[in-house]
Amino acid sequence: MFPAAFDYRAPATLNDALGLLAERGDDAKVMAGGQSLIPLLKLRFAQPQLIVDIGRIPGLADVKRDDGHVRIGALVRHVDVERSKDLAKLVPLMVEAVHWIADPLVRNRGTVVGSVCHADPSGDWGSIMLALNAELVAQSTKGERVIPIDGFFEGPFTTTLRSDEIATAIRIPLPSGSAGGSYHKLERKVGDFATVAVSVQVELDGHKVKKAGIGMTSVGATNLKAKQAEKALIGHELKDDVIAEAAKLAAAESEPKDDIRGTAAYKKDMVRVFVQRGLKAALARAQEVRA
Ligand SMILES: Cc1cc2nc3c(=O)[nH]c(=O)nc-3n(C[C@H](O)[C@H](O)[C@H](O)COP(=O)(O)OP(=O)(O)OC[C@H]3O[C@@H](n4cnc5c(N)ncnc54)[C@H](O)[C@@H]3O)c2cc1C
Repeated sequence: MFPAAFDYRAPATLNDALGLLAERGDDAKVMAGGQSLIPLLKLRFAQPQLIVDIGRIPGLADVKRDDGHVRIGALVRHVDVERSKDLAKLVPLMVEAVHWIADPLVRNRGTVVGSVCHADPSGDWGSIMLALNAELVAQSTKGERVIPIDGFFEGPFTTTLRSDEIATAIRIPLPSGSAGGSYHKLERKVGDFATVAVSVQVELDGHKVKKAGIGMTSVGATNLKAKQAEKALIGHELKDDVIAEAAKLAAAESEPKDDIRGTAAYKKDMVRVFVQRGLKAALARAQEVRA
């Protein structure tokens, strides 16, 4: 199918892009890599009158350290994560997970921030960012605001981002102690969206968990944060009984539905299995970092 007619602008500066959004509001749509937006236009699920392509705006394609965080600009593509030596050192979970996303063609154009803004409950980056306790940096003509990822997803394909805002970056807090993460994804074939996936990040203080993040993919109306399971880990050593209890809590917090990929009961059990495996892998990596 062909998209409905739309105007196309590719502003050369962020200010010009923000000006267009302020003027056109709900009639306009931001485009980054276009890997999700273009299919939506073709299917006519989205029919904006104006596309604001941010792909030529300078200064949005960097990964840099920034005040205790790593800042990933809005034009950092999946493939840039794959190749980033800085991210491999600073946020290894992202580099492990990126291979699970789509295929090389999509990874060459799609962006991390675009993926989070797209808010697909089956998207992988959303749950990874929930585990990492990331925050979005949003800019409009009225100024900048920082939005914690927890609460950013309002529903399927819906976020708290306003129509006059551009997410210019996502910021991930850097751990102060030894930390490790893992991403486990069940998919029907390579490049597919998840049947279930679980992202885990732990930070240790000695042998005990200081911070824990667990994000879940494809088991709810949005990517979900397993808050009860995270809470059950804090202050404890990651022994088998603690891990098993957290895995049980995360499964209880997931809200999957029966569909062609599997039954809700099966998906809940996969959450339990992946949280267990994920925590064990994350612990091993955190211990490697310390060694
Ligand atoms: C065949 C195929 C397989 C895929 N498989 C997977 C998969 O396994 N896992 C997965 O996670 N994803 C998958 N995807 C989605 C892919 O990762 C997209 O790249 C990603 O969802 C969107 O990034 P983008 O830069 O292309 O965003 P776009 O398509 O340009 O935009 C997506 C949405 O986000 C908004 N947006 C984008 N950037 C911004 C910004 N900076 N500020 C405000 N709003 C913004 C747009 O307005 C639009 O609504 C797949 C896509 C395809 C086509």
